[in-house]
Parts: sequence; C-alpha cells; structure tokens
Amino acid sequence: MIDPELADLYQDLIRDHSKSPRNFGKLEGCNAEAEGYNPLCGDHFSVFLKLEGDKIADVRFEGAGCAISTSSASLMTQSVIGLSKDEVPPLFDRVHALMTGHDDPGGPELGKLEAFSGVQNFPMRVKCATLAWHTLKAALSGAAEPVTTE
Ligand code: ZN
Repeated sequence: MIDPELADLYQDLIRDHSKSPRNFGKLEGCNAEAEGYNPLCGDHFSVFLKLEGDKIADVRFEGAGCAISTSSASLMTQSVIGLSKDEVPPLFDRVHALMTGHDDPGGPELGKLEAFSGVQNFPMRVKCATLAWHTLKAALSGAAEPVTTE
C-alpha cells in the first residue's frame, strides 16, 4: 500500500503531465517512429525518436488520450532520453510490473515513473498507462504497422 500523502503527490504529478505534457510535438531529424492505439479508451499516440547509433538522443510524442495515457507518455519521454536501446526493455519490464501489480523484477531506477503504481488498482487503465511504452518498443524495433493494445 502507498501512503495517502504519497498518493496525492503522485496524482499531482500525473495531473501536471497530462495538462502540460513534456516533449510533445514533432521531432526534427527523427529517424524512427511508431503509432499506437488503445481502442478500449481511444488513446492514440505517435512516438518519434532520434537515434544516434544505439542511443536515444531525443524523443517526442504526439496524439491524444486520457490523462493516464498522456502523462505516462510524457514521463516516459523524460525517462528514456539518453538511454541506449538495450536499456529500454529492462526499464519497461519494471514499469510494466509496477503498473500491473506483478512481482518487481528489479533493475533500473524508476524515479518519477513510480507515480504509476496506483494503476494496478484499475485494470482498465493498464492499457492506457502502457500504450506509450508499447509504441516506443515498436519504434525501436522498426515496426511498420501501428501497434494496438488489443
Ligand atoms: Zn486511456
């Protein structure tokens, strides 16, 4: 259980990022991108990457969705800038476990991403919260087809 004070703080963080998403918009010189849909909720995002070798030099996203999916995309972009491609899957595994309530596999520090620990209490929102991450993975693997959470 998260203590109520922390839960409030997390809610403020999520609200802030959903109202003013960071790294939102087109990306100059982007060389990888993917599109993701969550038909259950209507969330729809594109993720744009600027890769320099194996490193994520920059990342942006565009689209529209609910507060959870938007804030998750926003916080994700802040978390993955500067990472190498190989560093994304272990981070995603840990974030996914946090959001679904599965056992923590350990690994990279989550930092602000801990804000999504409350999502596990709302199974319908898990797809909202993970959409941007699935889309990022698709962009990194060069998927041509849009990803969908269904
Ligand atoms: Zn949603």
